[in-house]
Amino acid sequence: MLSVETYTTVKEAASAMTDRARYLGGGTLVMRAVTYGDQSFDRIVRARQPDRSIGTDATGLRIGAGATMSDLLASRDVQFLHPVARLIGGPAIRNMATVGGNLFAANPYGDLATALLALDAQVVMADGQNQPIESFLAGRDRARGLVAAVTVPRIETGAFRYRKVSRVKPKGVAVLTIAAYLRRSDPRIAFGNMGSTPLRAKGAERALGQGTQAATAACLEGLLPATDSLASEWYRREVAPVHLRRLLDEGGHR
Ligand SMILES: Cc1cc2nc3c(=O)[nH]c(=O)nc-3n(C[C@H](O)[C@H](O)[C@H](O)COP(=O)(O)OP(=O)(O)OC[C@H]3O[C@@H](n4cnc5c(N)ncnc54)[C@H](O)[C@@H]3O)c2cc1C
Repeated sequence: MLSVETYTTVKEAASAMTDRARYLGGGTLVMRAVTYGDQSFDRIVRARQPDRSIGTDATGLRIGAGATMSDLLASRDVQFLHPVARLIGGPAIRNMATVGGNLFAANPYGDLATALLALDAQVVMADGQNQPIESFLAGRDRARGLVAAVTVPRIETGAFRYRKVSRVKPKGVAVLTIAAYLRRSDPRIAFGNMGSTPLRAKGAERALGQGTQAATAACLEGLLPATDSLASEWYRREVAPVHLRRLLDEGGHR
């Protein structure tokens, strides 16, 4: 029997989490799991006042984990993320899907998580602990506790690029995604659906200084694409460098 427990704040909800509990963000994936008869949880925990705030200060940007894709699209502070949020699901999904939930969304999802990985985000947990998004994603299956927010350091204007490669436009799921933050020092490139979680293309990052050709030639280093119903591993390995070259040469596409 499934029970639903409602708390006022995310912090209170966090203290009620156990192995058999699932936190409800927007519920786009949790409710699907309920419908499919997922037996791995029997408690749903939710907060009446999730943090949906989006704000900037001198050091950067803070996005509450309860902010939806539609909240992002309504905010001028995160205009650089609009090409990412706009291509997530259709309008109904965007009205419900949260930033926090996207960090846990398995393939073929996690488009925003890929962008946040490129942007060097920090994940702020409800207990106040901070974690770099790269290690958070690597350990997310073992993650305990709730995410309160993500923070992103101040963005250099025009330095963020994003590309979602899908077979069905405009709202198909991704064969792969690429996000690049081409800041002056320490540029970052992340791929979605080229591993079991979003991954950085560290070979490409290192080779960027030698030009686009060197970066694309090195981009598969450390990536572990799988074969699934959307594309084969071979196909993903063939097209990833092509799309990275286009992103670097031509800029982001929607
Ligand atoms: C039809 C459809 C189309 C979709 N298209 C896309 C797409 O194009 N791109 C894409 O990236 N995704 C897509 N998704 C997947 C999903 O909607 C998004 O990834 C969304 O951001 C998940 O957020 P949610 O709040 O709905 O998560 P939920 O379903 O509420 O939760 C998902 C998981 O995250 C956990 N969780 C949620 N919030 C927190 C938190 N604050 N702290 C800790 N754990 C938390 C939950 O416990 C659960 O395990 C699609 C889904 C559907 C059904």
